[in-house]
Amino acid sequence: MSFFDEEGIKKFKSAGKILRETKAEIKRFVREGMPIIEVCEKAENLIREKGGKPAFPCNVSINEIAAHYTSPPNDDRIIPEEAIVKVDVGAHVDGYVADSEITICFNPEYASMVETAEQALKAAINSIHPRMSTSKLGATIERAIKSRGFKPVSNLTGHEVGRYLVHAGTSLPNVSHISLSKIKLGRVYAIEPFVTLPNAAGRVENGEETVIFRFLKPKHLKNPYAKQLLKHIKENFRTLPFAERWLQGVVPKEHHKEAFRELLSSKCLMGYPVFIEASRKPVAQAEHTVLIVEGGCVVLT
Ligand code: MN
Ligand code: MN
Repeated sequence: MSFFDEEGIKKFKSAGKILRETKAEIKRFVREGMPIIEVCEKAENLIREKGGKPAFPCNVSINEIAAHYTSPPNDDRIIPEEAIVKVDVGAHVDGYVADSEITICFNPEYASMVETAEQALKAAINSIHPRMSTSKLGATIERAIKSRGFKPVSNLTGHEVGRYLVHAGTSLPNVSHISLSKIKLGRVYAIEPFVTLPNAAGRVENGEETVIFRFLKPKHLKNPYAKQLLKHIKENFRTLPFAERWLQGVVPKEHHKEAFRELLSSKCLMGYPVFIEASRKPVAQAEHTVLIVEGGCVVLT
């Protein structure tokens, strides 16, 4: 008996194909000076048009921002010149999640850093197999990055994915570490090395902003509009991350702010703060979702 049934695997594969096509289109349309909200909405709509649903808001993380930025409602920020832009997308089909990323680099100075992230991902894909220790996988990624003169971001990790789960338990560190955890046959994992400059701190810290959330647990709510928002969140996103943008029009505009504030203060939602490289150095990323099969893996994205 495998962990996912045949239907489930099929749906993971469809989600992966949707992302593969979406990334190819993202690569074509992202430009310097483009509003970030346009990138997010275009990517999310492409996923929907192709028959999937976004598994989380499209992340557009620029330069020293490593992860977890998506446009808040009415975002007026644009992609700056010479930016290194990490567009991280997730799609699900009936809850089966695929997660992948494309780094678009408008600064030729950082081209080899982007290539290093891709090479580290390739090294991980070539070596991953059932029963491999996650520590050995981390060491493989770390070696691939350091041998090219760059530094891994040590506190960002890949992760197992599951049904309606982006982070399904096991983490996959991008550095050698002490752990007994092993890669399992029939499971699905997102592998995602993050790379920064050799003179960077090589870790991220939480930024001030939080723009991505997910449902955590039910709480007693006073505001009827807060109740209505929460109902919408549970029905539409379940335990998957969402952006506040996605809630527009659910309750009357004049009640939205207060209702959303109550969801946050009651702690029925959790937030994912923006991750910033601690020394404010630029970060590159590469990511694929893979299915573990006997002897290796199949890349789904
Ligand atoms: Mn991702
Ligand atoms: Mn991921």
